[in-house]
Amino acid sequence: MTREFKNVTQINHPMIQHKLSIMRKKETSTNKFRTLCHEIAMLMAYEISRDLPLTYADIETPLAKMKAPVIEGKKVVLVSILRAGNALLEGMLQLVPSARVGHIGLYRDPKTLAAVEYYFKLPEDVQDRDMIVLDPMLATGHSAIAAVMRLKEVKPRSIKFVSLLASPEGIETFHSEHPEVPIYTVCVDEKLNEKGYIIPGLGDAGDRFYGTK
Ligand code: URA
Repeated sequence: MTREFKNVTQINHPMIQHKLSIMRKKETSTNKFRTLCHEIAMLMAYEISRDLPLTYADIETPLAKMKAPVIEGKKVVLVSILRAGNALLEGMLQLVPSARVGHIGLYRDPKTLAAVEYYFKLPEDVQDRDMIVLDPMLATGHSAIAAVMRLKEVKPRSIKFVSLLASPEGIETFHSEHPEVPIYTVCVDEKLNEKGYIIPGLGDAGDRFYGTK
Protein backbone atom coordinates (compact mmCIF):
# COMPACT_ATOMS: atom_id res chain seq x y z
CA MET A 1 0.00 0.00 0.00
CA THR A 2 1.25 3.50 -0.84
CA ARG A 3 1.54 5.84 2.13
CA GLU A 4 0.58 9.45 1.57
CA PHE A 5 2.97 12.30 2.41
CA LYS A 6 2.23 15.99 2.07
CA ASN A 7 3.93 17.66 -0.92
CA VAL A 8 5.34 14.31 -2.11
CA THR A 9 4.38 12.86 -5.50
CA GLN A 10 5.00 9.13 -5.83
CA ILE A 11 5.24 8.34 -9.52
CA ASN A 12 3.65 4.95 -9.50
CA HIS A 13 3.36 4.24 -13.21
CA PRO A 14 3.60 0.44 -13.67
CA MET A 15 6.53 0.67 -16.12
CA ILE A 16 8.54 2.78 -13.68
CA GLN A 17 7.67 0.54 -10.73
CA HIS A 18 8.70 -2.55 -12.70
CA LYS A 19 12.02 -1.05 -13.74
CA LEU A 20 12.75 0.02 -10.17
CA SER A 21 12.13 -3.53 -8.91
CA ILE A 22 14.81 -4.82 -11.31
CA MET A 23 17.22 -2.11 -10.12
CA ARG A 24 16.68 -3.14 -6.51
CA LYS A 25 17.70 -6.77 -7.10
CA LYS A 26 21.20 -7.42 -5.80
CA GLU A 27 22.13 -9.52 -8.83
CA THR A 28 21.34 -6.74 -11.35
CA SER A 29 24.54 -5.84 -13.21
CA THR A 30 26.06 -2.36 -13.31
CA ASN A 31 25.27 -2.15 -17.00
CA LYS A 32 21.60 -3.02 -16.50
CA PHE A 33 21.32 -0.79 -13.43
CA ARG A 34 22.61 2.17 -15.45
CA THR A 35 20.27 1.54 -18.37
CA LEU A 36 17.26 1.27 -16.07
CA CYS A 37 18.29 4.41 -14.22
CA HIS A 38 18.35 6.35 -17.50
CA GLU A 39 14.99 4.97 -18.52
CA ILE A 40 13.32 5.74 -15.21
CA ALA A 41 14.82 9.24 -15.11
CA MET A 42 13.43 9.98 -18.57
CA LEU A 43 9.98 8.73 -17.59
CA MET A 44 10.10 10.72 -14.35
CA ALA A 45 11.02 13.87 -16.29
CA TYR A 46 7.78 13.45 -18.25
CA GLU A 47 5.76 13.54 -15.02
CA ILE A 48 7.79 16.26 -13.34
CA SER A 49 7.52 18.63 -16.30
CA ARG A 50 3.73 18.22 -16.46
CA ASP A 51 3.07 21.67 -14.95
CA LEU A 52 5.56 23.69 -17.01
CA PRO A 53 3.75 26.78 -18.27
CA LEU A 54 2.97 27.09 -21.96
CA THR A 55 2.73 30.12 -24.16
CA TYR A 56 1.69 30.46 -27.80
CA ALA A 57 4.09 31.22 -30.63
CA ASP A 58 3.26 32.16 -34.21
CA ILE A 59 4.43 29.39 -36.54
CA GLU A 60 3.67 28.34 -40.07
CA THR A 61 2.96 24.75 -41.07
CA PRO A 62 3.25 23.84 -44.78
CA LEU A 63 -0.47 24.61 -44.99
CA ALA A 64 -1.32 27.46 -42.65
CA LYS A 65 -0.27 29.89 -39.96
CA MET A 66 -1.13 29.00 -36.40
CA LYS A 67 -0.46 29.85 -32.78
CA ALA A 68 1.35 26.78 -31.43
CA PRO A 69 1.94 25.90 -27.76
CA VAL A 70 5.58 26.14 -26.63
CA ILE A 71 7.14 26.03 -23.18
CA GLU A 72 7.27 29.50 -21.68
CA GLY A 73 10.29 31.22 -20.22
CA LYS A 74 13.90 30.28 -19.82
CA LYS A 75 15.17 26.71 -19.92
CA VAL A 76 14.89 24.49 -16.87
CA VAL A 77 18.04 23.92 -14.75
CA LEU A 78 18.79 20.36 -13.65
CA VAL A 79 21.05 20.34 -10.60
CA SER A 80 22.86 17.13 -9.74
CA ILE A 81 23.96 16.52 -6.17
CA LEU A 82 27.31 14.80 -6.73
CA ARG A 83 28.04 12.10 -7.39
CA ALA A 84 24.92 9.96 -7.41
CA GLY A 85 22.73 12.73 -8.81
CA ASN A 86 24.51 12.28 -12.13
CA ALA A 87 22.78 8.91 -12.40
CA LEU A 88 19.52 10.75 -13.10
CA LEU A 89 20.94 13.47 -15.34
CA GLU A 90 21.30 11.75 -18.67
CA GLY A 91 17.80 10.28 -18.71
CA MET A 92 16.29 13.63 -17.77
CA LEU A 93 18.30 15.35 -20.50
CA GLN A 94 16.94 12.92 -23.04
CA LEU A 95 13.46 14.34 -22.47
CA VAL A 96 14.54 17.94 -21.80
CA PRO A 97 17.61 18.23 -24.06
CA SER A 98 17.93 21.99 -23.84
CA ALA A 99 17.91 22.09 -20.03
CA ARG A 100 20.84 23.80 -18.37
CA VAL A 101 22.85 21.75 -15.88
CA GLY A 102 24.39 22.60 -12.53
CA HIS A 103 26.36 20.53 -10.03
CA ILE A 104 26.73 20.75 -6.29
CA GLY A 105 29.17 18.67 -4.26
CA LEU A 106 28.94 18.38 -0.48
CA TYR A 107 30.57 16.20 2.11
CA ARG A 108 29.93 15.84 5.81
CA ASP A 109 32.72 17.00 8.09
CA PRO A 110 33.29 13.97 10.34
CA LYS A 111 34.05 16.19 13.38
CA THR A 112 31.38 18.89 13.15
CA LEU A 113 28.91 16.87 10.99
CA ALA A 114 28.30 20.09 9.05
CA ALA A 115 27.84 19.86 5.28
CA VAL A 116 30.92 21.27 3.55
CA GLU A 117 30.67 22.40 -0.06
CA TYR A 118 33.50 21.24 -2.34
CA TYR A 119 31.96 22.04 -5.72
CA PHE A 120 29.31 24.49 -6.91
CA LYS A 121 28.69 25.40 -10.52
CA LEU A 122 25.44 26.71 -11.94
CA PRO A 123 24.42 28.51 -15.12
CA GLU A 124 24.79 32.26 -14.61
CA ASP A 125 21.19 33.39 -14.97
CA VAL A 126 19.23 31.01 -12.74
CA GLN A 127 16.98 33.69 -11.22
CA ASP A 128 14.24 33.27 -13.83
CA ARG A 129 14.55 29.50 -14.14
CA ASP A 130 12.82 26.49 -12.62
CA MET A 131 15.30 24.22 -10.86
CA ILE A 132 15.04 20.44 -10.59
CA VAL A 133 17.42 19.01 -7.98
CA LEU A 134 18.51 15.40 -8.46
CA ASP A 135 19.65 12.81 -5.92
CA PRO A 136 18.53 9.20 -6.36
CA MET A 137 18.30 8.48 -2.61
CA LEU A 138 16.55 10.81 -0.16
CA ALA A 139 17.87 8.96 2.89
CA THR A 140 18.65 11.03 6.02
CA GLY A 141 17.76 14.20 4.09
CA HIS A 142 20.82 16.09 5.41
CA SER A 143 22.62 16.57 2.10
CA ALA A 144 19.34 17.41 0.35
CA ILE A 145 18.61 20.08 2.97
CA ALA A 146 22.10 21.58 2.67
CA ALA A 147 22.00 21.53 -1.14
CA VAL A 148 18.58 23.19 -1.36
CA MET A 149 19.57 25.77 1.25
CA ARG A 150 22.59 26.71 -0.88
CA LEU A 151 20.54 26.73 -4.09
CA LYS A 152 17.92 29.02 -2.55
CA GLU A 153 20.68 31.66 -2.18
CA VAL A 154 20.73 32.10 -5.96
CA LYS A 155 16.93 32.60 -5.98
CA PRO A 156 15.66 30.35 -8.77
CA ARG A 157 12.01 30.80 -9.82
CA SER A 158 11.11 27.43 -8.29
CA ILE A 159 12.74 24.28 -6.90
CA LYS A 160 11.63 20.65 -7.14
CA PHE A 161 13.48 17.74 -5.54
CA VAL A 162 13.67 14.41 -7.35
CA SER A 163 14.77 11.01 -6.02
CA LEU A 164 14.23 7.41 -7.03
CA LEU A 165 13.66 6.30 -3.46
CA ALA A 166 12.90 8.20 -0.28
CA SER A 167 12.71 7.23 3.37
CA PRO A 168 9.87 8.50 5.57
CA GLU A 169 12.52 9.95 7.89
CA GLY A 170 14.25 11.76 5.02
CA ILE A 171 10.99 13.28 3.81
CA GLU A 172 10.12 14.52 7.28
CA THR A 173 13.57 15.99 7.92
CA PHE A 174 13.72 17.61 4.47
CA HIS A 175 10.26 19.12 4.75
CA SER A 176 10.97 20.40 8.26
CA GLU A 177 13.47 22.78 6.57
CA HIS A 178 11.97 23.17 3.10
CA PRO A 179 8.23 22.46 3.41
CA GLU A 180 7.39 24.29 0.16
CA VAL A 181 9.78 22.23 -2.02
CA PRO A 182 7.85 19.40 -3.68
CA ILE A 183 9.45 15.96 -3.66
CA TYR A 184 9.02 13.61 -6.60
CA THR A 185 9.99 10.00 -6.02
CA VAL A 186 9.17 6.54 -7.33
CA CYS A 187 8.72 4.94 -3.93
CA VAL A 188 8.76 5.82 -0.25
CA ASP A 189 10.40 2.82 1.37
CA GLU A 190 9.94 1.43 4.84
CA LYS A 191 12.68 3.03 6.90
CA LEU A 192 16.33 4.02 7.33
CA ASN A 193 18.75 1.65 8.99
CA GLU A 194 21.28 2.68 11.65
CA LYS A 195 23.86 3.42 8.94
CA GLY A 196 21.55 5.77 7.08
CA TYR A 197 20.69 3.33 4.26
CA ILE A 198 17.16 3.06 2.91
CA ILE A 199 15.48 -0.30 3.68
CA PRO A 200 14.70 -2.28 1.57
CA GLY A 201 16.24 0.27 -0.84
CA LEU A 202 18.68 -0.72 -3.56
CA GLY A 203 22.02 -0.38 -1.78
CA ASP A 204 24.46 2.42 -2.54
CA ALA A 205 23.12 4.10 -5.67
CA GLY A 206 26.46 5.68 -6.63
CA ASP A 207 28.40 2.44 -6.23
CA ARG A 208 25.81 0.48 -8.18
CA PHE A 209 25.65 3.05 -10.98
CA TYR A 210 29.42 3.46 -11.32
CA GLY A 211 30.38 -0.12 -10.43
CA THR A 212 32.70 1.08 -7.68
CA LYS A 213 31.98 -1.80 -5.31
N1 URA B 1 22.60 6.56 -0.27
C1 URA B 1 22.50 5.45 -1.02
O1 URA B 1 23.11 5.35 -2.08
N2 URA B 1 21.72 4.44 -0.58
C2 URA B 1 21.02 4.52 0.56
O2 URA B 1 20.30 3.58 0.91
C3 URA B 1 21.15 5.69 1.33
C4 URA B 1 21.93 6.71 0.88
